[in-house]
Amino acid sequence: MQPKLIIHGGAGSSLIGKGGVEIVRQSLTKVLEEVYPLLLAGESAQAAVVRGCQLLEDDPRFNSGTGSVLQSDGQIRMSASLMDGTNQRFSGTINVSRLKNPIALAQALQNFPDRVLSDYGSAELARELQVPIYNPLTDMRLQEWWQERQENFVKEAAGVVAEADLFTSTEAGRGTIGVVALDSQGSLAAGTSTGGKGFERIGRVSDSATPAGNYATSQAAVSCTGIGEDIIDECLAARIVVRVTDGMSLAAAFDRSLVEAQSRQRDLGAIGIDRTGAICWGKTSQVLLAAYHTGETIGDTLEWSDNALTGSV
Ligand code: ASP
Repeated sequence: MQPKLIIHGGAGSSLIGKGGVEIVRQSLTKVLEEVYPLLLAGESAQAAVVRGCQLLEDDPRFNSGTGSVLQSDGQIRMSASLMDGTNQRFSGTINVSRLKNPIALAQALQNFPDRVLSDYGSAELARELQVPIYNPLTDMRLQEWWQERQENFVKEAAGVVAEADLFTSTEAGRGTIGVVALDSQGSLAAGTSTGGKGFERIGRVSDSATPAGNYATSQAAVSCTGIGEDIIDECLAARIVVRVTDGMSLAAAFDRSLVEAQSRQRDLGAIGIDRTGAICWGKTSQVLLAAYHTGETIGDTLEWSDNALTGSV
């Protein structure tokens, strides 16, 4: 089977900043170029998804791992989940602090009887697994928080990518990351990792470590980004995947689900792959930072400006 790969670095209201598109394109392409060969070499979809998420978490441009946004109290709390479509198994960590790669903790949880852990439990597990302590804070995110604090948190969410130009912008945006892969055995997996929507209340739970934001079966796999509350209200990832599992094509499932989300004024985006190798994406937000590898071509959605809610390849 020809492996397929799609990744995202969030959705939001705009990609401001000179050279913004090119810089984000370079970041996403680098990840595709490192992860796709793993799939060609016979690695599983799950392994490829975890590697892709780690690379995106390590890139300070995106709001996950290093470069995560700060919450209202100035702390970073990250959430990540992994779903393997083959055994249809979901695992995740919610509001974890002081580690480098939340997706690695989500992967470790695949083999535990308790597979979704919140803050305290995640910290205990990280200690048990001897995961090194790491501070994911970047200067840019600190400045961004500081500026918002001076303005009494008027923005609804943090910047889509950690770019200096965004600090002077009044545009809001998000920047979670996600990876969906189909491997040479025909197995699917999805992973999503986030620092949250930024400036949120302590204890707020993101969609990223729920099946609303990240879901996979043997038929399809989807990762979402955008306002977590909107994604949860639509139960978007599971909604799209279940439609495919019930017989709809991935493109039709994306179309229908995004039209429904749009009718309810949701602000979100999603990427997905089905077992036939179809790759789809969709957004109700203005931009979706997604890029894909079909085996023959690499493409992205960075300059997608028509009014269509979905696209596919
Ligand atoms: N969905 C994430 C959240 O609400 C944010 C994002 O996708 O950027 O926590």
